[in-house]
Amino acid sequence: MATYTFLTSSVKEVTSKINRIINKCKKQGIPYTFNVGEAYDKIIENKENNQRFSVNVTDIEIEVNFKFNGWTSLGAVTRKDGIVQCYFNDAALIKQYKDTDFHCDHCHKHAHRNSVIILEHENGERKVVGTSCVQEFTCGLDGNLIASFNDLDSYLAKKDSELGILLQGESLDDMPISVFCEHVGNPVYAVKDIIACASRLVRINGYENSNSDDATWKFILDLYGRTSVMMDDKDAYAEAERAIAWIANMTEEEYTSSSYLFNLHQIIDAGLCSMRHFGILASIIPSYQKSEYKRIQSERPASNFYGNVGDKVSLTLTFTKSISYNSQYGTGYFHFFSDEQGNIFKWSTNSPMEFGVKEPNSDYTSLHSLDQGAVVKISGRIKAHDEYRGEKQTVITRCKYEVIESKERDRKVAEMNEEYNRNKDYKCPWEKTFDDLLEHCFGGK
Ligand SMILES: [Zn+2]
Repeated sequence: MATYTFLTSSVKEVTSKINRIINKCKKQGIPYTFNVGEAYDKIIENKENNQRFSVNVTDIEIEVNFKFNGWTSLGAVTRKDGIVQCYFNDAALIKQYKDTDFHCDHCHKHAHRNSVIILEHENGERKVVGTSCVQEFTCGLDGNLIASFNDLDSYLAKKDSELGILLQGESLDDMPISVFCEHVGNPVYAVKDIIACASRLVRINGYENSNSDDATWKFILDLYGRTSVMMDDKDAYAEAERAIAWIANMTEEEYTSSSYLFNLHQIIDAGLCSMRHFGILASIIPSYQKSEYKRIQSERPASNFYGNVGDKVSLTLTFTKSISYNSQYGTGYFHFFSDEQGNIFKWSTNSPMEFGVKEPNSDYTSLHSLDQGAVVKISGRIKAHDEYRGEKQTVITRCKYEVIESKERDRKVAEMNEEYNRNKDYKCPWEKTFDDLLEHCFGGK
């Protein structure tokens, strides 16, 4: 029996994913256990910097017994739209089976099949089996169901670790698009265009993972259709190119280290994709940004503590990243900054980092998320000197900040002025007609 602990906010998403599998188990008479517990508050503590949060969580028990005649499934390899994808939890299995010829060890028929399941017997024997032959090993059980359970398994493990990851201060990698995910039609798109759309969406709205209602990938097609918008977005294409190069230049050792990286590598190598790949392609943007952040951190001089605890400070810093989390008090944020000497600053607060843009000829100021790399003048008090994984962080508190430089703000201001200038001399036809009408009625004509 496996028990996973999830943030209560993600339980709806998780159970809907589990239910898809459980419904199939019901139909096929496969024994299962599936219980969703009561929500409760859990205090989690980061010992390294003494921060504590109360987080609302829910336990879910799930077990599906797929053992038949001593055989269990290790994972699956599929090919759709000309792209091979792996679903294993173990890098060694990816290396071993990524080049499978989709030959079935059971019937030895060379049918053109699109997926194989890798089965292992208790005695260590392994077989690569087509999804229709797999039923011979599993008393009639559908091979696609087994493949989808493998995918669910790795999904749950990842979701479960959200709490831990929250504390480690890292964002989640996206899960590979699932083998059982439905997809629509088969039009083909250039991978670069799709990633450029994702880059724009992430820049403007932040990233939403592929299981969310507002998942980034769901907006890609709409944006893709607005060719003129995308053609002007040089930054989105530049980021897409950098993200593609990041994957394309990986060594085989690197890209076979997880199913996620392997599947991304396969799609990028193909250069073309279908809509079923949008989810994983959208996720390349946050993954790439995370890897860039790590690279930059590793190249910059080691961080040292700044000032003394209790000092009032006023500093000019570069904004490097934000991590958000949900607790019963609402959304909280850790904002990270660095100075020119490479020293790291951290601010824990309930508000996001934003810049305001005053709209031309109006009193209204709109707020937008601050971009990584923006420069801020920030004042506050030094609360603590903490060490996190060997990195010295100066924790600042009660901060006020002013945005000094922001590429995103420059772009927003330019956009707004352009729109204002385009519209200011415009007179709508109705207005004209109404004036004409007035003149006609009362102007004595
Ligand atoms: Zn077969």
